[in-house]
Amino acid sequence: MFTSGYFDNPWALKIDLMLKGIRVVDPLAKAWACGTTGIDMLLPAETLVNIPCREEFTADSPYELRRRGDKHYITDGTSEANAEILPFPAFYSRKTTTGVPFGDIAVVHGSYTVITPSPRCDFFDTDSECRYCTINYNGLGEPKRDFTVDEVLEAVAAVLKEGLSKIIYLSVGFTEGDDGGIRFLGPYIKAIKKHHSCLLAVEALPPKQNRWIDKTYALGADSVLYNIGIFDSELFEVICPGRAELVGRARYLEALKYAVSIFPGGTVASHLIVGLEPPGSTRIGIDHLTEMGVVPILPIYRPRPGRALRIEPLTAEILIPVFKHLYTAVKKSGINFKWVRDISMITTPAEASMLMEDSAKEMKGLGNFYSSRFGLKAAWGLSAIRRKLRVKNADF
Ligand code: SF4
Repeated sequence: MFTSGYFDNPWALKIDLMLKGIRVVDPLAKAWACGTTGIDMLLPAETLVNIPCREEFTADSPYELRRRGDKHYITDGTSEANAEILPFPAFYSRKTTTGVPFGDIAVVHGSYTVITPSPRCDFFDTDSECRYCTINYNGLGEPKRDFTVDEVLEAVAAVLKEGLSKIIYLSVGFTEGDDGGIRFLGPYIKAIKKHHSCLLAVEALPPKQNRWIDKTYALGADSVLYNIGIFDSELFEVICPGRAELVGRARYLEALKYAVSIFPGGTVASHLIVGLEPPGSTRIGIDHLTEMGVVPILPIYRPRPGRALRIEPLTAEILIPVFKHLYTAVKKSGINFKWVRDISMITTPAEASMLMEDSAKEMKGLGNFYSSRFGLKAAWGLSAIRRKLRVKNADF
């Protein structure tokens, strides 16, 4: 089945597919991918990947998705790998009691479901907008109303009932103020933790004051992400002018450091977007974050027309050593990285380990801890006990 290129290792193939995208000619698959940011597929060894298929650059991809009978496979014309198209979650087609499609509220990415209760970010459509931002580009930033707490609760219930995701990931864009969006997210965090037994991650901009980080944890968040995105200070200013001016790179690092002292080990994370800075700079960022106890997560930048910011050349050959470095750095720092795994859009340290021959067995042994009934219950129960002890004297 596997004979050449990256077909021998599904994790390396995932990286190359995320870089180059795929050409989709099969009408069934085309219908699936229509209107989405990429096509969610399961490669061999249960490797989840979201493959770009609509962007202009994908037209030059050597990879094509084909069908034989009722089975799909990916080929470069020489080699091939089985690839299963993940069905859309059934709850996407249902609606809240107020008539909002659940698919507008909650988006499943592997074992995570992302919910963005407000489609706004104060940077949208201004000179301050992050140059790579896809939220506005994908139309999610259109001026729609915020989803209510009840609507989000209904969506979470639908997600959990279908059993696809065990971790809910709440995200918020930039708003003026000292709280990094936690004033707005607070009621959602509290309600989700009160009504549902699930793990909850919060992705926000760093608040100006550390007490909002305490508050994020006290409200019920199990994990927090402050995504610096670009580690190089000059590129950070050029590509993220709003975040550079109104938050500041130094505040990202301070807030991450403080969050590590509050949240359980391995639950504070930050994205470093691969392709927006030279690979050497990403490596420096990986070292810096892991030394602080922060888990780096490495999404791959997807160029789009008019915003071709990708540093070239960028090939899997150049990137695989960066992902291997990620795994080595996380292991060396002793950070528990089981929290962030199985995400179709990005490549996590757990997946990076699969690029290292001697570590693959070890990671396989972990299985999908948080997908098991026992694992989820244990993680949820432990997090509740720890929070009670940790925030006993918190003063808000
Ligand atoms: S802060 Fe986030 S949502 Fe706002 S423009 Fe930047 S990437 Fe987009």
